[in-house]
Amino acid sequence: MKETLLGLDGKRALVTGASSGLGAHFAQRLAAHGAEVVLAARRVDALQSVAKQLEPYGRARCVALDVTSASSRAAMVEEAGPIDILVNNAGLVREGAALKHSEEDWDVVLDTNLKGMFFMAQALASGMRERGGGSIINVASILGLRQAGGVVSYAVSKAGVVQLTRTLALEWARHGIRVNALAPGYIDTEINHDFWQTDAGKALIQRIPQRRLGQPDDLDGPLLLLASDASRYMTGAVLPVDGGHLVNTL
Ligand code: NAD
Repeated sequence: MKETLLGLDGKRALVTGASSGLGAHFAQRLAAHGAEVVLAARRVDALQSVAKQLEPYGRARCVALDVTSASSRAAMVEEAGPIDILVNNAGLVREGAALKHSEEDWDVVLDTNLKGMFFMAQALASGMRERGGGSIINVASILGLRQAGGVVSYAVSKAGVVQLTRTLALEWARHGIRVNALAPGYIDTEINHDFWQTDAGKALIQRIPQRRLGQPDDLDGPLLLLASDASRYMTGAVLPVDGGHLVNTL
């Protein structure tokens, strides 16, 4: 067998929000690199089709999980068993002008993207501590590091994810638990695909220094780096994967 720094043989990874988009892609990549994968999302039926695509790599398990529900998180911990790698990916956005943003919009976004993410990390960190460590990868966004109009609660939640990552990294380093974040730029997935065909979408792409959208595959290297022992001396890092969007000109 070829030696690889990024191999995940013998590791068990859990991916939240694995029924679609980046979560489904991350699960596939982790499985292809040797991890046993637990797919978690609210709708188990939607997870089954993702699990089917992972069959060539071995068995993937599906567990029901609503990251905003304490009882659902507790049931997930029982069902999932020991986890070495948590990809905290579940998230959502409610778009619209800040003047019209409702309290319900604010709550659902913060509860899912930030509170849900913290309590997922907490739920799995005790097991990781007992077994000597683990890797937690929080999916942030460049909107946690810069700002744009029409996404106030989302940007605030992702800024919170950045600070959550650094705070937990500090506190859990002594337990061997590494906590890092991916901060993707604009990635072409099913939910935003149509937008990129519009004039506004095309104009936005022109503001990305590499002049192209990210594809899910562009996140593979950073994901595998953070998941594997190749990043064993990295914790508290927030990795932008954005074609240079964060460094664009004023
Ligand atoms: P998506 O809508 O396809 O995926 C989000 C997933 O989270 C879905 O499977 C959804 O069911 C799940 N989810 C939502 N609420 C949940 C809950 N309460 N409990 C469990 N699962 C829940 O979108 P995506 O683009 O794949 O986004 C995945 C992550 O990547 C999100 O955190 C998003 O903020 C982040 N992100 C995406 C982009 C992008 O351009 N696509 C850029 C930066 C960051």
